[in-house]
Amino acid sequence: RTNFSGEYERQQRFATQATPGQAARDPPSSDQESWEQRSSEGEAADEDDEDDNNDLTKILSKLPKGVDLQSARQILNDIVVRGDEVHWDDIAGLDGAKKALKEAVVYPFLRPDLFSGLREPARGMLLFGPPGTGKTMLARGVATESKSTFFSVSSSSLTSKWHGESEKLVRALFGLAKVLAPSIIFVDEIDSLLSARSSGSENEASRRSKTEFLIQWSDLQRAAAGREQTARDRKEGDASRVLVLAATNLPWDIDEAARRRFVRRQYIPLPEHHVREQQLRKLLSHQHHELSDADIQVLVHVTEGFSGSDITALAKDAAMGPLRNLGEALLHTPMDQIRPIKFQDFEASLYSIRPSVSPDGLRRYEEWAREFGERG
Ligand code: ADP
Repeated sequence: RTNFSGEYERQQRFATQATPGQAARDPPSSDQESWEQRSSEGEAADEDDEDDNNDLTKILSKLPKGVDLQSARQILNDIVVRGDEVHWDDIAGLDGAKKALKEAVVYPFLRPDLFSGLREPARGMLLFGPPGTGKTMLARGVATESKSTFFSVSSSSLTSKWHGESEKLVRALFGLAKVLAPSIIFVDEIDSLLSARSSGSENEASRRSKTEFLIQWSDLQRAAAGREQTARDRKEGDASRVLVLAATNLPWDIDEAARRRFVRRQYIPLPEHHVREQQLRKLLSHQHHELSDADIQVLVHVTEGFSGSDITALAKDAAMGPLRNLGEALLHTPMDQIRPIKFQDFEASLYSIRPSVSPDGLRRYEEWAREFGERG
């Protein structure tokens, strides 16, 4: 299947593509499952295919002349994420970041009439902090809550070894984002796309995608500001409702010029005490377990320094405890005879699941946040 929306598997790959330190990912949401079911429903799927092909033709016909159609198809297939919804409530803590994102993106996208002139929203926002703290979840949450098309980009997905292809991909990305506005262009690990020029290790293709990315982003800002908005700009989609949202675990690697373009830089810290408690309780909420409130308090205490992703990994590992000693019996033991998850399972898992950020590493984030970021 090569059409626009039959791309469940590829999106799955995207959704589960782990970055270093991300020990675990959530299972596919129910939306994704229904998507898969739909894809396997023979005739019904064929009709949907036809609709999708019509949609695709319509979308491609709106693109500005310079945009390469093959690149646009590639972006639609590999980069546009559909059906993987994250809601604010799925994300533990981070209230300050949620508030900032609502004000900067969600409300302006839903009520553009209120957000002009002095209230003109920022066109770029950087989320930075240790790995596994919910940056990607927040970006997906923003797309869900603002009903936007979500473009999930990594530096490698915009870099082609073929001469000239990298620029084409970047142009197609921005062209489509305008046509499908409101859109969020989410760049994960933006440091590798916009690394400091002095790094010296840039190869030609990634330099080209970086340069083109910065050009396209400036054009977007110009068009959105409305100063020179021409009839052509308006016909080619709504630049005022396209936002570049980027995440990085290595904020110090972004070069200064690129850093300054992100007017808003939001620190996404490790979870505090009450957030770890909230997350642990949520993870245990639908499980058969016998942890008391006091046990949970102990876990909250000993997981100081864990990221959200470390806590998920810990809970997943502990949940395997009741199955581990069963051996072959696992295959025929009825569900109601599986013992509950115990505090001892967590104790055992704590030997192998350790925080992915060291105290020294953490200090570096705190310093960068003090110098360049907003907290919350
Ligand atoms: P980042 O983009 O900051 O590296 P992610 O958003 O990809 O981290 O988080 C990785 C996984 O860790 C998520 O899929 C989720 O299971 C868990 N996780 C991280 N932060 C949170 C959080 N604040 N609330 C709930 N789960 C979280």
